[in-house]
Amino acid sequence: ASRANSPEFRDVAVHLHPYTNARKHEEKGAMVIERGEGIYVYDTAGKQYIEGLAGLWSVAVGFGQPRLVKAAADQLAKLPYYHSFAHKSHEPSIALSEKLLQLAPGKMSKVFYTSSGSEANDTAVKLVWYYNNALGRPHKKKIIARIKGYHGITIASGSLTGLPYNHRDFDLPIANIMHTACPHHYRYAWEGESEEEFASRLAGQLDEMIQREGPDTVAAFIGEPVMGAGGVIVPPATYWEKIQKVCRKHDVLIIADEVINGFGRTGKLFGSNLYGIEPDMVVMSKALTSSYLPLSALLMNQKVYDGIADNTAKIGTFGHGFTASGHPAATAVALENIKIIEEQDLVANAAKQGEILQRRLRALADHPLVGEVRGVGMIAAVEFVADKKTKAPFDPAGAVGQYCFDRCQEHGLILRNLGDTVAFCPPLIIDEAQMNELLDRFETALAETLDWANS
Ligand code: PLP
Repeated sequence: ASRANSPEFRDVAVHLHPYTNARKHEEKGAMVIERGEGIYVYDTAGKQYIEGLAGLWSVAVGFGQPRLVKAAADQLAKLPYYHSFAHKSHEPSIALSEKLLQLAPGKMSKVFYTSSGSEANDTAVKLVWYYNNALGRPHKKKIIARIKGYHGITIASGSLTGLPYNHRDFDLPIANIMHTACPHHYRYAWEGESEEEFASRLAGQLDEMIQREGPDTVAAFIGEPVMGAGGVIVPPATYWEKIQKVCRKHDVLIIADEVINGFGRTGKLFGSNLYGIEPDMVVMSKALTSSYLPLSALLMNQKVYDGIADNTAKIGTFGHGFTASGHPAATAVALENIKIIEEQDLVANAAKQGEILQRRLRALADHPLVGEVRGVGMIAAVEFVADKKTKAPFDPAGAVGQYCFDRCQEHGLILRNLGDTVAFCPPLIIDEAQMNELLDRFETALAETLDWANS
């Protein structure tokens, strides 16, 4: 009876979790987190964990930040809700848009608000389609994403995502969404192929795909500057420069999905800044509010906006928007969150502490289980392989990653296992001692994982 009454089992009695293995969860119970402070969260037994993935790659300023609580409370007291339909507005959303346009990579012109990364990417798909309809070329509709890219899980954004389990049971991708190669040099480069050669080959493949489909039918290319949920995949040198060239050649819009990269994660304010990407549209969420409240933003440049605005009268209203688009409390929290990121110079801190993260993880490259260590700034991953020489994965796939993840949790460190890849993405406020503590806990778990793998 006490087991059934515990929050861990009351939870599984009533919840169907995202990405669940439901029967296994029923048996194990949920992990119930009660509170958070800084880089730490605490479960109902009071056990402390370093949140090494910043929640879901998102809690940039850390947990329990009182300024964000106050920003939300003040706004909720003043105007808890108003919408942005029929040209209504409110101050926090105006001020946030001004700020985002000032910070954005490339020269952006307007902001459209949604509440999740998925909704923002769905909105991007619709805007691209509307834009080309407006320009009198409704056949220019295809959007190219990448294998292992992650853009969300709704019907359109889940189609953009390039992972099999997001498609398999749902008849995805929908029509007009296709995938080109994943820019993972370790996995997909030919023997002896340099990063630059690999990048040229992938850009060539994209060019061929667009030619084959017909450039007059291809509307946009979407990508995360550094891939996140697909395994923290850092593109090979010259990749983005070559991909952009192909897109420009065929009048294909570039959409930068900055949902994980944005607001300092890579050691630059945006991943696009790191690679010289000049997007036509930018997608932001997660660290935009440090996930204290749900909010996402889709920014578009003048070319896209003008295409839409000049033609709205001709083809009719852009029939898209959400009840919570630009929610006052969420936009107020985002403003204060960005202020904290600026005042505490968290982008510089991501670069500085990220250097420790990258250096200490790369020192594990010779470890018998480790195939590749990769990352940039404060996002990183360690991929386990059965054979370091042939890069052969473990069978069954994911078991070693799962074991390591479980051992980390036992030692008070929450990371994320993506198959046999373990991902790191701590809050941007982490200091040097905390970063070293995180890595010490990981190395303890890794040593136990090796013992287990050898037994
Ligand atoms: N885009 C990227 C790059 C993401 O990492 C995610 C979520 O992890 C999404 C979009 C989807 O965001 P959401 O889960 O808020 O729908």
